[in-house]
Amino acid sequence: MGAWALPYRRSGSILLRVESAERLAVDATVPGSLAGFLNSLRRTLPSRVYLGWESVDLERLATHMEWDAERVRDGLRYLAQRGIVELVDAEDGLVVEWTQPRMSRLQIDANDLDRARQHAVRRLDDVIGYTESVGCRRQYLLAYFGESAPARCGRCDICLGRHRPDVVTRADESLLRQLLEHAAQSDPLSTWLSDASVSPRKRNALIDWLAHDGMIRLVDPIGEVFEVTPKGLRALQRTSATAE
Ligand SMILES: [Zn+2]
Repeated sequence: MGAWALPYRRSGSILLRVESAERLAVDATVPGSLAGFLNSLRRTLPSRVYLGWESVDLERLATHMEWDAERVRDGLRYLAQRGIVELVDAEDGLVVEWTQPRMSRLQIDANDLDRARQHAVRRLDDVIGYTESVGCRRQYLLAYFGESAPARCGRCDICLGRHRPDVVTRADESLLRQLLEHAAQSDPLSTWLSDASVSPRKRNALIDWLAHDGMIRLVDPIGEVFEVTPKGLRALQRTSATAE
């Protein structure tokens, strides 16, 4: 068994247990100043301290004994050193006593460990998904907890357009068209512009631009499923007509 202590607030309470009632009784018969203390202690202690650990208010005990509290504490510590009582003093800090020897190695079920690891990885994926979400953060969070929310909260970094390009250049137009086609064909988001040399950041910015412009709509924030709006479809038809 081991004990582990950490700082604790000063308190007048002690945990006390009489280890040897017999020696306590015998020592009380030996003439001297200790006998006075022991006899007073024996008359005053609650009987439960003979049965097991008991919280004792040191101030009250000292008052009943008509002794000074610090001297009672010193006396109890002396008795503890002699193995007559056992004492846990809040002044010494909080003490945790292990009821069983601590194992140097924990017995862990490999399947449990694997499940826990998979669970942790899923949670981490969710956090990464949140930070990389292409839609409104609030909508993503609420969807995560199974609640529906407006497509835009108007307050998060996405809604405030922190990642959205201010202007769409001519070079972006072809990319926007490809994104619209991906959405129209319900391609998984991971494949959108995957063959174009576009950073995920830039890609997400363009997707946000399309959503903000009302061309596409995020229908499943967690699964990142978009649908093309009628406006988006019209744009798609227009550009394909131009391309032909
Ligand atoms: Zn938002």
